Amino acid sequence: MRVEQTEILIIGAGPAGSVAAGLLRKQGRQVLVIEKEQFPRFSIGESLLPQSMAYIEEAGFLRDVVEAGFQYKNGAAFRRGEQRTAFDFRDKFSEGWATTYQVQRADFDHVLAKAAEKAGAEIRYRHQVVSVDVAGERPSVNVLSPEGETYQVCARFLLDASGFGRILPRLLDLETPSAFPVRGAYFTHIEDHIPVGSFDRNKILVSVHPEHVDVWFWTIPFSNGRCSQGVVARTEFLERYSGTETERLRAIIAETPTLAHLLKDAVWDTPARKLTGYAANVKSLWGKGYALLGNAGEFLDPVFSSGVTIAVKSASLAAAAIAREFEGEPVDWEADYAKPLKAGVDTFRAFVESWYDGGFQKVIFHENGAPEIRRMISAILAGYAWDRSNPYVAEPRRLKTLEQLCSA
Ligand code: FAD
Repeated sequence: MRVEQTEILIIGAGPAGSVAAGLLRKQGRQVLVIEKEQFPRFSIGESLLPQSMAYIEEAGFLRDVVEAGFQYKNGAAFRRGEQRTAFDFRDKFSEGWATTYQVQRADFDHVLAKAAEKAGAEIRYRHQVVSVDVAGERPSVNVLSPEGETYQVCARFLLDASGFGRILPRLLDLETPSAFPVRGAYFTHIEDHIPVGSFDRNKILVSVHPEHVDVWFWTIPFSNGRCSQGVVARTEFLERYSGTETERLRAIIAETPTLAHLLKDAVWDTPARKLTGYAANVKSLWGKGYALLGNAGEFLDPVFSSGVTIAVKSASLAAAAIAREFEGEPVDWEADYAKPLKAGVDTFRAFVESWYDGGFQKVIFHENGAPEIRRMISAILAGYAWDRSNPYVAEPRRLKTLEQLCSA
C-alpha cells in the first residue's frame, strides 16, 4: 500500500477541521485534511454565536466570512405563548465579539475550507478515512480515494474533526452515552414570506410548544429571504406524528399558534430532514498523538446554538497545545486541552438541562429580570461560556437559585 507522511493530519473539513487547519498553517505546519464529501454539502448548525468569531479571526478567516454575505445576527429571541423576550448580544457581560452570522452551512463550511486551502492546507475531498492505528510511534490512517484506491497516511499528530462521523470514538472504542435523553429534530429550509416588522431577522427565534415545555422550534433567517425551520423533541414525541418529515414538522408547528401565524405564507419547497440521537460523549478527548475536536468529542444539544462555537474553540485549544508540543515543551493534554474545553461545555450543559426542565425559561421570561443578570445570561447565550468572571460561568449552580427566585 502507498504510504504518505504529513505533520498534521485532520479528519473532516467542517468548522473544527478548517479552523484547526488555518491555525496550524499559521504555525508553519504541513497540514493534510481528509474530507469524505464534495463541498459544498448540506450540514445542520446554522446559527453562530459571537464567541466563535474570535476563533475564526484567530485562524485568519475573518475577511472570508465577512465578505460571504451571510445574515447578520445580534441576538436571540424567545417566544412561549404570548410571552416574548429577546437578548441583544451587544448588551452583554463579557468582553469580545457581540455579533455574528446565520449561515447556510453548505456555503459557510466551504468558505472556511477554501480559506484553509488559501492558507496552504491541502484538502482532499471525497477521500474517506476508513481505519486508524494509534498504537505505533506515530498515528496513521487508511484512506479510501474516490477512485477506490486505499492508501496510508502517517502523521506526527492526528486531529479527529469528523463531527457526527465520530471516526476515532467509533474505531478506538471511546464512545460513552450522553447523559441527555434521546432527542431528535425535523428541519428544512423554507421561503418564509414573514411580513416585514413582525420578526427581527437579526436574531434566531426560539419558540416553545404551548403544552410541552421541552419541545421547541428554531427559526433562523438567512440573508436571502429564506429561513431554516426546525423542531426538537424527544424521539417518542416525534414518533406520534405520521406522514413525511415535512408533514410532521408542519403538524407540530400548527400546534404552536404564534409560530404557525408567523409562517402562514411560507413556501415549503424543500423536503424536511430528520436527525435523532445526536447527543454523544467520549471517554477521553485525547490520546498519544491524537485529539478529538468539536462534535467528534462531545455534542450536547442544539438549543443554545453552541456546537460550532465549541468546535472552533476546541480547534484553538488543540492548535495551541500542538504548537508547544512541537517546540519540545511538555504538554499535559488533559490539563491543557480537555479540561479547559470541558469547562465551557459544562457551562452550556447546566443551561441546557435547565432549559429542558423549564427552569431557564422561567428566568428568561421573568418580567422583572435584573439588567445585570440579563447581561450575564446574554453573555452565555453569545457563547462566552469560558469567561469565569461571569458568576454564572464560575458557578453554574447559581442558575438553580435564580430559577427558584423566578418561580416565586
Ligand atoms: P462537522 O461540521 O460535522 O464536520 C465534520 C466533517 O467530517 C464533515 O464534513 C464530514 O463529511 C467529515 N467526515 C466524517 N467522517 C469522515 C471520514 N470518515 N473521513 C473523512 N471525513 C469525514 N451548532 C451551532 O453552532 N448552531 C446551531 O444553530 C446548531 N443547530 C443544530 C441543530 C441540530 C438539530 C443539530 C443536531 C446540531 C446543531 N448544531 C448547531 C451543532 C453543529 O451541527 C455541530 O456542532 C457542528 O457542525 C460541529 O462541527 P464539526 O466541525 O465538529 O463537525
